[in-house]
Amino acid sequence: MKKVFLMFTLFCFLLVMSGCGLEPRPFHIQTEATGSKKVILIIVDSLIKNPLTTMMEERKLPAFRFLKEKGWYTDELVSVFPTMSVVIESTLLTGHYPNHHGVPGLRWYDVEERKLVNYGDGTVSSIRSGAVQTAMNGLLHLNNTHLNQDLPTIHEELASMGKPTASINALVYRGSEQKTLHVPGMAPLATMAPPYFVLGSFHHYVQTGFTHRFFPSYGVNDRVSVDHLLDLIQNKALPDFTIMYMPDLDKESHEEGINTKDTIVKVDQLLQEVLHAFGTWEEALRDHVFIVMGDSGFSRIGEDKAKSVIPLDTLFQPLKIAEPDQTTAADDLAVAVNSRMAYVYPLRQDLDMDQVVEMVKKDARVDMITRRRGEWIEVMHPESGQQLRYRPGLSFTDVYSQTWDIEGEESVLDLDIDTRKKQIGFGKYPDALMQLYAAAHSHSGDYFIMTTAPGYEMEGAHSPIHPGGGNHGSLHKEDLLIPMFVAGTDKRPKTLRVVDLKPFILGLLKQEG
Ligand SMILES: [Zn+2]
Repeated sequence: MKKVFLMFTLFCFLLVMSGCGLEPRPFHIQTEATGSKKVILIIVDSLIKNPLTTMMEERKLPAFRFLKEKGWYTDELVSVFPTMSVVIESTLLTGHYPNHHGVPGLRWYDVEERKLVNYGDGTVSSIRSGAVQTAMNGLLHLNNTHLNQDLPTIHEELASMGKPTASINALVYRGSEQKTLHVPGMAPLATMAPPYFVLGSFHHYVQTGFTHRFFPSYGVNDRVSVDHLLDLIQNKALPDFTIMYMPDLDKESHEEGINTKDTIVKVDQLLQEVLHAFGTWEEALRDHVFIVMGDSGFSRIGEDKAKSVIPLDTLFQPLKIAEPDQTTAADDLAVAVNSRMAYVYPLRQDLDMDQVVEMVKKDARVDMITRRRGEWIEVMHPESGQQLRYRPGLSFTDVYSQTWDIEGEESVLDLDIDTRKKQIGFGKYPDALMQLYAAAHSHSGDYFIMTTAPGYEMEGAHSPIHPGGGNHGSLHKEDLLIPMFVAGTDKRPKTLRVVDLKPFILGLLKQEG
């Protein structure tokens, strides 16, 4: 009986809270035709090329196939290391890597505050567990404190040009208007966001069906996202730029280790709903540019936890790792695990980091260890013992026109170096030199970076694991290469990298505006 009462109380609580983040639609975002097409960017979290490409060929995905046929498609867009959504979205919106935008991972250790920053894997789980600090990090500090204020986001840049924008369920959303987030059990939180701003049931305009307002993830889910995009289209209120995030596929990818055909079909059906809302699909492309993309890939993790998961507390024994909520004088190390990568920080002045690195080298499941040494970046491959070091310099030019000095064994990063032409190409680790350089300079403190080989993940300071499922975070192309569809324009970004999408998007909107 007590249980029933508790359930009833919870139900009433949810019912009352269900409307608390509901806002009137900001009608002033309606824009006159400026001559340039409006841009709709849809991020499908953890969308990968298989079985997407074969299902398109089999005509099982009409919306994806339409976008591919009417536009262009790649399954080799290079994402951002560490391959975690908050890092990738920060790069997408600012056009910079983490060394400039200041969001190093889903988890990172703040050496000045001596505490682990965790943006939360899902806002609802953070709140359920009573982790107010995690909720504050994910909802507020990520956008208003940590994301570099000196780098304008796409939303801020377009606002300064008088062009309104919309952000629907994106975790990184910073814009130029003050909005209020309504979080159950907390005082209202002021945040800076675009004119049309949806973040689950914390701030929304449409009352999607009751269950979707809460599950999954308190309204940060595909149904709520698509209902808001439909609301904008049907009310002819689409601003110049809209970003919509679809998180549901990521959950399945972690659990199953694949994109299942059923779920890809569901995503396609939601895209069909969006295209239908314009009347005909051809009409949708007449006045709009559609960009539909994944954000990270993932690696399948072996079923046997003992083999596939590296527990960092065991790896670093007898050293003591700080608990996520507090660091004590007895702690030796802090670890910030981002699934298949981790930042490792010494907490004691007298700790010999060379010895700590030696502990890591003993585990052949570790793919590489990266350390900043003055202006050099040192990369080690534990199994072979081979090493490479590099720094910004003029000796070699990579395929993205970035220039470097390099010494050591190029196979550590699977580089293809043409010593005669002084050129560098990439193999298993796309844009590896800049990606590692950026992560190694992403925040203050003395730390090293470890990544796992495909099939393996790490566990530390209570980070979640997915044996038998899938996970991402590393620099390997399994995690780093993603599909992208662009339809409604023939223009292309400067390179096929997420870091180069911001100027591409702004260019689409500036061309005739
Ligand atoms: Zn994920």
